[in-house]
Amino acid sequence: LDADEFRRQGRQVVDFIADYYDRIHEYPVRPAVSLGFLSRQLPNAAPSWPEPDALSAALPDVRDLILPGVTHWQSPRHFAHFAATASNVGALGEALAAGLNINPFTWAASPAATELEVVVTDWLGKALHIPEKLLFCGGGGGTLLGTSCEAMLCTIVAARDKKLAEVGEHRMGDLVVYCSDQTHFSFKKAAHVAGIRRANCREIPTRRESGFALSPAALEAAVRADEAAGRVPLFLCATVGTTPKAAVDPLRELCAAVAGHGVWVHVDAAYAGAACVCPEFAHLAASAEAADSFSTNPHKWLLANMDCCALWVRRPAALVAALGTDDGVILKDAQSSGHELAVDYKDWQVALSRRFRALKLWLVLRCHGVEGLRGFVRGHVRMAAAFEGMVRADPRFEVPVPARFALVCFRLRPAIHGDGADNATNELNTRLLEAVNATGRAYMSCAVVGGIYVLRCAIGNSLTEERYVREAWSVVQEQAAAVLMPVIP
Ligand code: PLP
Repeated sequence: LDADEFRRQGRQVVDFIADYYDRIHEYPVRPAVSLGFLSRQLPNAAPSWPEPDALSAALPDVRDLILPGVTHWQSPRHFAHFAATASNVGALGEALAAGLNINPFTWAASPAATELEVVVTDWLGKALHIPEKLLFCGGGGGTLLGTSCEAMLCTIVAARDKKLAEVGEHRMGDLVVYCSDQTHFSFKKAAHVAGIRRANCREIPTRRESGFALSPAALEAAVRADEAAGRVPLFLCATVGTTPKAAVDPLRELCAAVAGHGVWVHVDAAYAGAACVCPEFAHLAASAEAADSFSTNPHKWLLANMDCCALWVRRPAALVAALGTDDGVILKDAQSSGHELAVDYKDWQVALSRRFRALKLWLVLRCHGVEGLRGFVRGHVRMAAAFEGMVRADPRFEVPVPARFALVCFRLRPAIHGDGADNATNELNTRLLEAVNATGRAYMSCAVVGGIYVLRCAIGNSLTEERYVREAWSVVQEQAAAVLMPVIP
């Protein structure tokens, strides 16, 4: 670490990134490369000795070898999956944290980093209208993890250990977790890692008529059936903003349905939690007042660069009981030991070591302000509404489920009816998506909702403006004309 060299190299890297953002809209969003394209161009072993001025030599390789092979997630034409929204302060906050390179696993390991995480998770929770009971100021507390899947794993493990302490460890095989058929697949993975039998993961079907939301009655029936069969209901993962089509589960009613059954309710708001910064969406987070935990990814739609998942729990002690480690004298600290404000975040997560994520989130909140974030989210919601309007105005298309937040699901209407129509329509739309993405001028993804294959246009990038949304729609229309053209033998 040489300060002068760092200054020189840092300028080079900042200029490189700024040039990239200047030209990002010119790149095809998804690279047209074939498997192995990069490995063929690189030596098969690391250099034995450093190259002279190696960073200066490597940056052109990043430009010429790496950039042509990346999917440009920050492109204003990227409408696939959910965005990983970047901002200047999000990126520079990451750079600051990387430069300091500290490891705040206990309060003593870095008091300011720990206290900033305590402060900033409460700030964010208040900004998103998360019930106070889940925040430090209301007796709960928040932490910053890398992903929603980690948040699910940590909370399932906390719920599991709490439950086993009540019913006895021999009941491990009887524990049951609940979700809907729209819940993100990472929930089943987290449950599996936590030792829940695959057969004990209830995926409750949802219906199109109820907007693909989890039905409290169906949940309650499943819980009662498990109890009647001698099993032990453990955990519900409810979602605000499901991945396929941003459906919202009715949190209040779901919590009421399992009240008295000892089920830990976790709210996964990985994507749509950000929208709760706006008063018009605030009721969605506020309705989690009876939930045990709540998580959202500010790296998805709140300008905090990868990675950042905020998790709040009503009873931090349950997390610590399950994930706390007895490290003897090594990590003990006389000043913080036993102090109620001393948070040792290593005991809230799986690993010991952790990143200083609070810094960038603090910068994002300071530099954009809550009003700035509202304006940002609303801009995308408006663009999505405009896109939905364009789709609905074209009689060849339909919007099978209304747009929600900034996600629009749409498809070409069935061209034929009767036997085989569903498969033919799905196949037609699959070809449409491939054709759209092959242009490089827009990149969208897909989902299957209620057996229907849809294209997903998820608006959420900092650089996306209305003109890019209009252009994306033109690309869809052009490619639709091509895939609908009759094949002349
Ligand atoms: N939950 C929802 C609703 C999601 O949309 C996603 C990813 O898009 C996840 C969970 C998984 O998030 P992560 O990659 O942070 O584990």
